[in-house]
Amino acid sequence: MRFRLADTVLLQGYKQGMSPAPRPHATANQPTSTRSPRWGRWIFALLWGAAVAGGYAVYSGALIIPERFNPWAALDVAAPPNFLTATKLARARGDPARCLAALAQTGMRYSPLPDRVTGPGCGFENAVLLREAGVRIGAPVSLSCPMALSLAMWERHALQSAAVLHTGQRIAAISHLGSYACRNVNRGDGAAPNAPPGNRSQHATADALDIAGFTLTNGKYIAVLRQWQTDDAATVAGSDALFLKEAHRSACRYFNGVLGPDYNAAHRDHFHLETGGYGMCR
Ligand SMILES: [Zn+2]
Repeated sequence: MRFRLADTVLLQGYKQGMSPAPRPHATANQPTSTRSPRWGRWIFALLWGAAVAGGYAVYSGALIIPERFNPWAALDVAAPPNFLTATKLARARGDPARCLAALAQTGMRYSPLPDRVTGPGCGFENAVLLREAGVRIGAPVSLSCPMALSLAMWERHALQSAAVLHTGQRIAAISHLGSYACRNVNRGDGAAPNAPPGNRSQHATADALDIAGFTLTNGKYIAVLRQWQTDDAATVAGSDALFLKEAHRSACRYFNGVLGPDYNAAHRDHFHLETGGYGMCR
């Protein structure tokens, strides 16, 4: 809008400059469009000032609003997600102390790991050895705090409801293919563990987890490899596939990067979930 008004003024100035004769109707008493930008600027400034003042009042504590609507409040892992959850999760992931504080609320079973450097571009900081993630996870995994926190949020706020919706059961266990590995990005043409560290996978810093399937509370196992594709959505297999699709889609809200069977053949049997990398949802 501001550009449009400014353009109008420029255009009129240009026209006036081009035209030798003054326009007959342009008198001093008539409202001209040159006033509009000034009012526009005032209104914009007032709104901007009000937004800044309101934001500062919330930030300083002068104005009390519910925590879930306060963008500066810490992430509450149990609170139902809203439009601020992604921002709060990102901020918690970006600060080691905040991340550990949020992780402590999740009820996950884990123990802190000492920071390690294991090779060029490999190792981890602020990581935990995760033993249980609200659900069983089989072999314990080394995960960075941001990954563990994202996993907790996804399991609690998306995965369980997707399973109940499509299968009538909750998730009892997640089967994973591992997290930390000092290696480069797997593009499906064969990982090259001895390649130079220019293109390290998020696995190399414990910022990724590969998930192969899910066990429901009735003992049924749903494998990404077998149940991702189906021809008939009205069958049980179709429901399983819909659950996997929803699990994949919802993971994109809680992780920075998600790759699944539709991405490439290297991911035909698992979901690759990661934090800290480039945003992707494939
Ligand atoms: Zn992976």
